[in-house]
Amino acid sequence: MACPICNKPGVPAYRPFCSKRCADVDLARWLRGDYVIPGLPQDDLSSDQAPESEKNTGGGLDSRIKRP
Ligand SMILES: [Zn+2]
Repeated sequence: MACPICNKPGVPAYRPFCSKRCADVDLARWLRGDYVIPGLPQDDLSSDQAPESEKNTGGGLDSRIKRP
């Protein structure tokens, strides 16, 4: 797979990137919010998670913690 940053052939250790530098560049883009995932609006995610976490505090979370 070609490096998405510079289009050089990727290296398995850093795939799909060709080097740690390119991986860092990609990470920095993510952190800056340059990438937007289509079909996953942040508003949708947060409104989805809020009610679920409320449910989990009731008992669902408890059973999860007990399981190894
Ligand atoms: Zn690269």
